[in-house]
Amino acid sequence: MTVSPSTYEIHDPATLEVVDAAPLHTAADVELAVARAGTAAAAWAADREARRDALRSIAGAIRTEAPRLGEILSREQGKVLREAVMEFTVAAGLFDYYADLEWDQTEYLPERDGRRLAVQYQPVGLVGAITPWNFPISLLAVKLAPALVAGCTVIAKPSPSTPLSTIAMVELMNTILPQHVLACVTGRGVLSRALSTLPGVRKISFTGSTEVGTAIMAQAAPTVKRVTLELGGNDPAIVLPDADPSFTAAGIIGSAFRNAGQVCMAVKRVFVPRSRAAEFTEALAAAAAGLVVGRGLDAGTGMGPMHNAAQRDLVAGLVKQATADGGRLAFGGGTGTELPGYFMQPTIVADAPYDTPLVCTEQFGSALPVSVYDDVEQVLAHLNGQEFGLGASVWTPDLERADNLASRIEAGTVWINQHTQVEVDAPFGGWKASGMGRERGSWGLSEYLQTRTVNAVAGAHGAGGSAAGAHGAGGSAA
Ligand code: NAD
Repeated sequence: MTVSPSTYEIHDPATLEVVDAAPLHTAADVELAVARAGTAAAAWAADREARRDALRSIAGAIRTEAPRLGEILSREQGKVLREAVMEFTVAAGLFDYYADLEWDQTEYLPERDGRRLAVQYQPVGLVGAITPWNFPISLLAVKLAPALVAGCTVIAKPSPSTPLSTIAMVELMNTILPQHVLACVTGRGVLSRALSTLPGVRKISFTGSTEVGTAIMAQAAPTVKRVTLELGGNDPAIVLPDADPSFTAAGIIGSAFRNAGQVCMAVKRVFVPRSRAAEFTEALAAAAAGLVVGRGLDAGTGMGPMHNAAQRDLVAGLVKQATADGGRLAFGGGTGTELPGYFMQPTIVADAPYDTPLVCTEQFGSALPVSVYDDVEQVLAHLNGQEFGLGASVWTPDLERADNLASRIEAGTVWINQHTQVEVDAPFGGWKASGMGRERGSWGLSEYLQTRTVNAVAGAHGAGGSAAGAHGAGGSAA
C-alpha cells in the first residue's frame, strides 16, 4: 500500500545492531490508507458472524506463529524472548475473547405511550490505533480485537522504534481479513498527527505517555473524534507491617522489573513501614540480585536492556538525584553486562524521599525507590493528592484491611498481594491523568460502538387523524 518506498533502520537495544528496515510512510500514505479503509467499511460492518469467524482464525494463526513473531519482537524491543512470545499468546486470547463475547446489536427499551424504542449499536467507523514501544503487540491487540468485532476498520500506527512486530502481525492478520479492513503505517513524526487530524478517522485509541495523549486529544478535537487514552502511571506498592518480606519482595520485584521496568502498570515505588524498613529493603535487594541481565534472546536472561538510550539515561539520572536527595543505593547502579546496549541493573534505592523525582514522577525503567512511612493514612493522602491514578497494590495477609485501603485509593486498578495482573474481561484504565475510557471486557467493546436510537410510533396513516405520525394530515411538527 506504500506510496513512499523509502525505509529506515530498526536497532536491537541489546547489541545496537540493525535488526531490519521498516517503511518510512508519509502523511500521503495515511490518506491513502484512510481512503482504502472507506472502501471496505460497509461490507465489514454488515456481517458480525463473519467478523467473529475471522477473529477466531486470527487467534489460531497468531498462536501457531508466536515463536517466530516473538523473536522479531524480542530483537526490536529488547524484552526477554518468553515475554515477547507471551505478548502474542495474550493477543490470541484477546481475539478469542472478543470473538465469543455476547452483545446485543439492538436493544429494545420498554414501550411507552405507543412508542417503540430501539437502541442500535453501530461501529464508530475508522479507528487510528497508536501504540507505544513497551508492549507493541498486546497493547495493539487490546484495541484491534474489540474494534474489529464491533465492525470498525483500523489503521495501526506503532512506535517508530518497534514497527517490525506490528508489521508482521498485521501481515498475518491480512491473510485472513478482507482487503483494507486493517492497515499499518510506520515511520516517524507526522504520521500520528495525520491520523489524529484527518476527518475520515472517527476514533483514536492511544496508549502512551500522558504528554502525548493530551496532544492527541487536542489534535482530535477539531474533527470531534472519539478518543480512548491509556496513559502513564506511577503505581505504588503499599506494604503493611504484617506482610511477609520474601513473598512480598518476590511479587514486587517480579512486577517492577518485568520488561526492564517499562510497564505502565508496574510497581514504580514502594512504601514500607519504618518499623520493618530494613527487612523489606533487604528482601527487595536480594530478589533484585537474582535477576540475570542480558540479551532477551539468550537463554537464562531474566531482564533485558531498556529500550533506548534516552530512557536509560533519564532513569540513571533519577537514581543519581535520588541518592543526592538522601536515598541510599541498596542494589544495582551499574549495567550488569558487557553488552553494548542500553542496560541498567535492577536498581533499588532505599530511604527515598517522597519528593525526589524517582518517587514522584513516572520513572519507567529498571529502578525502584523504597520510601518509609510512619502512618499509612499519610501515604494514602499523599498518593491521592497526585495526578497519576493507573494502579496500586496493597501487601498484607489481612484481606479485610487490604480491602478497606483499596476502596480508598484513587486508581483504575488496585491489586492485593500481587501487581500487574490484568484480566481479559475486567476493565483496565486510569483515573485522572492516567487516562480516559477503558479497555478489556465489554467496557473495551463499548469504546468502539455508538448508539442510534430509533423511536417509532405506528402512526395513523390513512385515518386522517391528528395523532403524532399522521402524515396524511399534513402536520410537520419539529
Ligand atoms: P509516547 O507517548 O512517546 O508515544 C506513543 C505513541 O505516540 C508512539 O506511536 C509515538 O510515535 C506517538 N506519538 C509521539 N508523539 C506524538 C504526537 N505529538 N502526536 C501524535 N502521536 C505521537 O510513549 P512511549 O514512549 O512509546 O511509551 C511509554 C509511555 O507509554 C509511558 O508513559 C507509559 O506509561 C505509557 N504507557 C501507558 C500504558 C497504559 O495502558 N496506560 C501502557 C503502556 C505504556
